[in-house]
Amino acid sequence: MRKSFAIIGLGRFGGSVCRELIKSDQEVLAIDSCEDRVNEYMNVATHAVVANAQDEATLRSLGLRNFDHVIVAIGEDIQASILVTLMAKEMGVPRITAKAQNEYHARVLDKVGADTVVHPERDMGIRLGHKLTSNNMLDFIELSEDYSLAEVIVTNKKFYNRTIEEINFRQHFNLTIVAIRRGKNELIVSPPANQMILENDILLVVGHNDNVDYLDDKMN
Ligand code: ADP
Repeated sequence: MRKSFAIIGLGRFGGSVCRELIKSDQEVLAIDSCEDRVNEYMNVATHAVVANAQDEATLRSLGLRNFDHVIVAIGEDIQASILVTLMAKEMGVPRITAKAQNEYHARVLDKVGADTVVHPERDMGIRLGHKLTSNNMLDFIELSEDYSLAEVIVTNKKFYNRTIEEINFRQHFNLTIVAIRRGKNELIVSPPANQMILENDILLVVGHNDNVDYLDDKMN
């Protein structure tokens, strides 16, 4: 379904979100106070305007409240990011996603009404940290402080050519296999208990971080 998005701040983060939304055929209004940035997005976004988002009258005249989703992607200027999030909330925008620079900023954005607070640098750091310190984990996404979704490659003979049931996977690791990636093109979603696991299969698992780390260790 086509939705309308307004992105405030066209730095690396806001800019990437804008390009991705346009690729998915969504309607995007791109806003930045810097004219050069706006010019860059003139032919990318559905509309692009130069405006200072801290000015409430400007936000009203842009009809911000009519958008399905507002993304506050202002970088360094934490005060502006908080104020804009607050104003978008007060205008009744149904969904607000805001980018945080640090933990304090994240807490304030949450308090003033952001539905989702993203912390790209921190999240990417955590993902990369996990990838770098493990041999078999290909990717790692935090779902909450304790739970995550991870991709682990099967490199232990004990797993080869045995079914999920035979390995007693769930009882043993207390993780759920949501999908198995096999080779380049095959994706087995929600595999049944009698699903055979092969060498170099990639298991997409959800569960507690401790259990994900345990599984990763067992692959060595
Ligand atoms: P990133 O880390 O995503 O690259 P930047 O700090 O480079 O973030 O980008 C943030 C963008 O937000 C800049 O292009 C800046 O001009 C814009 N911006 C900052 N304050 C405002 C504001 N009050 N109104 C509109 N745009 C703003």
